Amino acid sequence: MKVRCKHCGREFSSETALKRHIKDLHKSYYYAPRIILAVAVALLLVAAGAFLLTRQGLGAPISGIECHSGEAVSYHVHTLLEIYLKGEKVKIPANIGIIPGHCMYWLHTHDETGLIHVEAPRQMKFTLGQFFDVWGQQLSSDNVLGIDLASSNLEMRMYVDGERYLGDPREIELVDNRLIILDIGPPFAK
Ligand SMILES: [Zn+2]
Ligand SMILES: [Zn+2]
Repeated sequence: MKVRCKHCGREFSSETALKRHIKDLHKSYYYAPRIILAVAVALLLVAAGAFLLTRQGLGAPISGIECHSGEAVSYHVHTLLEIYLKGEKVKIPANIGIIPGHCMYWLHTHDETGLIHVEAPRQMKFTLGQFFDVWGQQLSSDNVLGIDLASSNLEMRMYVDGERYLGDPREIELVDNRLIILDIGPPFAK
């Protein structure tokens, strides 16, 4: 049984011979389906990667705090956070909540002063717990920055605008011009 090449009309005695002929003389027809498939797979992988990156990884919302890239900020207030451990001031890093070249979380820092910038598209209630979540640090009545207070024989005294605060540290609201002090001791800073 003879087979005919549909590209040039030449006849061959077997499918194998025809296949070899197409591969040798009509390279583009031979490789085209493979190239299209490879490109399709590559595009699919890129799309899936981008999807996963924004859904579960870089820039994904943290505790309801979204990461926005270069859009209008209509709500912009600042809360100052100071943390003391055994009388020593704990450095709060710059650029918490900022993914360079990608996005900025509604709660972030620009320098090491402890100034928390609240920059959001609209006025919302934000809490210290959400800021610690964006920071990637622990905050509760028993654990601050990974320090287990009870087992370290430490106690945390909290002050909000100079007043002693006895509630849940995570619930302290980040309102404009507020000063939050977490004083962990003894010895205490205050
Ligand atoms: Zn700001
Ligand atoms: Zn900012």
